[in-house]
Amino acid sequence: MENQLLMTPGPTIVPEKILDAMAKPVIHHRTPEFVSIFQNCSERLQKVFKTQNGVYIFAGTGTAAMEASICNTISPGDKVLSIVSGKFSERLRDIAKTYGANVTSLEFEWGSEIKLDRIKEALTEDTKLVTSVHNETSTGVRNPIQKIGALLKDTDTLFMVDAISSLAGDKFETDDWDVDLCISGSQKCMALPTGLSFISVSEDAWGVIEQNKNPHYYLDLQKYRKKYPQTPFSTPVSLIFALEAGLDLIDEEGFEKKLARHHKVANYARNKSKELGFELFPEKEEICSNTLSSFKQVPGIDTGELIKRLNSDFNIRIAGGQAHLKGKIFRIAHMGIIGEKELDVTFDAIQDLINKLK
Ligand SMILES: *Cc1c(COP(=O)(O)O)cnc(C)c1O
Repeated sequence: MENQLLMTPGPTIVPEKILDAMAKPVIHHRTPEFVSIFQNCSERLQKVFKTQNGVYIFAGTGTAAMEASICNTISPGDKVLSIVSGKFSERLRDIAKTYGANVTSLEFEWGSEIKLDRIKEALTEDTKLVTSVHNETSTGVRNPIQKIGALLKDTDTLFMVDAISSLAGDKFETDDWDVDLCISGSQKCMALPTGLSFISVSEDAWGVIEQNKNPHYYLDLQKYRKKYPQTPFSTPVSLIFALEAGLDLIDEEGFEKKLARHHKVANYARNKSKELGFELFPEKEEICSNTLSSFKQVPGIDTGELIKRLNSDFNIRIAGGQAHLKGKIFRIAHMGIIGEKELDVTFDAIQDLINKLK
């Protein structure tokens, strides 16, 4: 456990300052002292999201925010267009189905580029919601959210984007890109422990939410808006302390500098892997994620065995493929505080193991 190197796309390495903040004594979540910290964090999150709209915080992992964005907007029978190109975009589609939506699953091969003309064709006047994922963590592909937002700009369709594994690690402009519901989570680029998720809600989205007929209780966004700057239920105080420390770290580094660092490290990962002869999984380098890289199976090497041995022999944890990509790809994160040093250690260990396993 001691020196485990976490190179997985969530959770990622949590900086010392954030861990220390979690160790502070717990205070009550209804005290003015805590409420002021909570409000301050919520307002600072607006800057991370690049939005003038309110950002609400859930005690729950990213999937809680995914579900909230759908169960608050979709009434049974509403038309939803789900852009599907990986495990997480499938999850959004499946949540929409769970809540009784009439879902069109617009599927693209995992690892391929999303085609805008197919989205245009599939859109109808009565499409209530489009669901999409900015950074498909299951494939290592970054999707063209700005362009999809532009397609939807002058329509009544709400645009929902899962930016869980990219927000604060790659450029994301909620308002400028016309995103109505943007969601993110704590354990990816913000380098916090797992357990918080965030959602920004546009005025148009509130209009739809107020008419919503689906039953929901814990994730009822109207309750969160009404109770703000408190939460309707108990607030996970220690996680909010962690969030405050994480936002301090972002301010110390500078937000734009943090994004530039992620880009630089992503380029480093891609260049280094090329030198080693690994093949990127996404079909084109231009669509590669800036927060994690995914690689095709190394010929002659069992990916499952490689991942297991990295863990047992080197105490390094990377991720394999999900669903039909299990055994076919491996994924290495470069989010949060992961830098060139951690990538070097990881790639060297992989190279070492490949030589042994051959
Ligand atoms: C990690 C992740 C999620 C899911 O988050 P949980 O915290 O496991 O609920 C959803 N979408 C994307 C793109 C992710 O990377």
